[in-house]
Amino acid sequence: MASRPQSLSGGCLCGAIRFAISLSSDGDWPPTTNGTCQCTACRKHTGNILPQYTGFKTKDISPPLTSNPEYKTYESSSTGSRGFCSKCGSSLTFNDKRDPEHTEMNLGAFDEEVLCGKKDEASAWEDEHGRHVPRVGGVGKELCTAKYHIFMENAIPGVTDELEGTKWRLSSRMGKRNWD
Ligand SMILES: [Zn+2]
Ligand SMILES: [Zn+2]
Repeated sequence: MASRPQSLSGGCLCGAIRFAISLSSDGDWPPTTNGTCQCTACRKHTGNILPQYTGFKTKDISPPLTSNPEYKTYESSSTGSRGFCSKCGSSLTFNDKRDPEHTEMNLGAFDEEVLCGKKDEASAWEDEHGRHVPRVGGVGKELCTAKYHIFMENAIPGVTDELEGTKWRLSSRMGKRNWD
């Protein structure tokens, strides 16, 4: 397993919003607050059939997202708010107003080097399939392995229902009914 990184960098597609999340030594690594959500609001906001998030302490995100004038939020329910870049439209976060100390980050917002590692151009080779560039580092596996899946009642049979991890109807917060 890759050792604990000191921080994780990410941002929106256009680059107007950049952030780094510091991982304090007492924080949980690999993160356990990592899951997918198939509720319609998460799908619509991300444009993705299997949105995935990891939760972090809001205070560990710097600079604070709300300090960036391009960062806007949309209140998708009486308790939920979703953050995005007003310039390029990248969907970035979910916040539950009852728990402002935590922010769920959309995993696709993290940088390629965080997810896949740095390209090692010096070790690249080419064959009939094209150019292969090995990657060095990256914590995608630790960061992105989902521990749970919520709103499984919206799963698309044969497409988004065969998932490793604990499965819930609704969310673990809204109702602790196991899917299987
Ligand atoms: Zn942007
Ligand atoms: Zn959702």
